[in-house]
Amino acid sequence: RAAFASLRNELPVTKDGHRVTVMVNAGLRDDVAALDLTGADGIGLFRTEFQFLISSTLPARERQQRLYRDVLETAGERPVIFRTVDIGGDKALPYLSKDEDEENPAMGWRALRLALERPGLMKAQARALLEAAAGRTLNVMFPMVSEPWEFDEARALFEAQRAWLIRRGKMMPAAIRYGAMLEVPALAEQLDLLLPKLDFLSVGTNDLTQFLFAADRANPKLAERYDWLSAAILRFLRRLVEPCRAAGVQLGVCGEMGGRTLEAMALIGLGIDRLSITPAAVGPVKAMVRSLDRAALIAKMEGLLAAPPRDMRAVLTAWATEQGV
Ligand code: PEP
Ligand code: MG
Repeated sequence: RAAFASLRNELPVTKDGHRVTVMVNAGLRDDVAALDLTGADGIGLFRTEFQFLISSTLPARERQQRLYRDVLETAGERPVIFRTVDIGGDKALPYLSKDEDEENPAMGWRALRLALERPGLMKAQARALLEAAAGRTLNVMFPMVSEPWEFDEARALFEAQRAWLIRRGKMMPAAIRYGAMLEVPALAEQLDLLLPKLDFLSVGTNDLTQFLFAADRANPKLAERYDWLSAAILRFLRRLVEPCRAAGVQLGVCGEMGGRTLEAMALIGLGIDRLSITPAAVGPVKAMVRSLDRAALIAKMEGLLAAPPRDMRAVLTAWATEQGV
């Protein structure tokens, strides 16, 4: 741990000179202190629903705005990506009624699906975010986007709130960057239609994995069965890289996968250079990046994905050891 702390001021640059962006996931005001403790590049996923989950009543717009402003002030120059509320499903709120119990809440009425049907909630959040980011760049990301039109509607909702606030003389962000989370495999099938609309795309590998493998992420019986380092996941992710690059859309991963050192290495080997991870993982991931020959890794990954070994993890572990990673 002490060894990793000394990396706080070192940049995550590979041995062959490639800069990787390492950000942290956060959800509460106090989490933002992790930025200084780890020397991370920013907050790549701020889970705004945490404030809702720990509150016994719906947080008023003023309270939301105060939190967002505090977070932005603490972050200073470092970017913060706010994810709009991902509630419903298994993150049920006592004060938000739903008509019936759901058999499969993870695949249910949650996140953007709920937000677009109960627009009052997202309108209040949009106003809070827009006012909190007055004069600076606001990064907004929508969870569980399954179809491009859902992104369009969410963005239009934000833009309508912006126009409304401008008419009332409010100071607005200097710029707004809109992004989508890729968690639902169906969205990848319409990537060409989605990318022109986006500033950034962030892969939520927690949900994506459970949907790709049809394996509940909360079921301990399945926890060991499907590895993030499987050919299916790695090949799926690799297919995102070139279209995003060509469209000028920043591509990152914000699921837990990126916080595991070997998995992070594999992602970099696919050409994914932006990770948002749990704060405790920043030191180990930085150390890995700094010991990495990225070009050699990319060549290795290409070979492995062309003819995947059954135990990808074992092969990558052996390669990392041999390379001194
Ligand atoms: C994910 O699904 O990978 C993700 C980052 O979102 P959450 O874990 O909050 O569902
Ligand atoms: Mg998710």
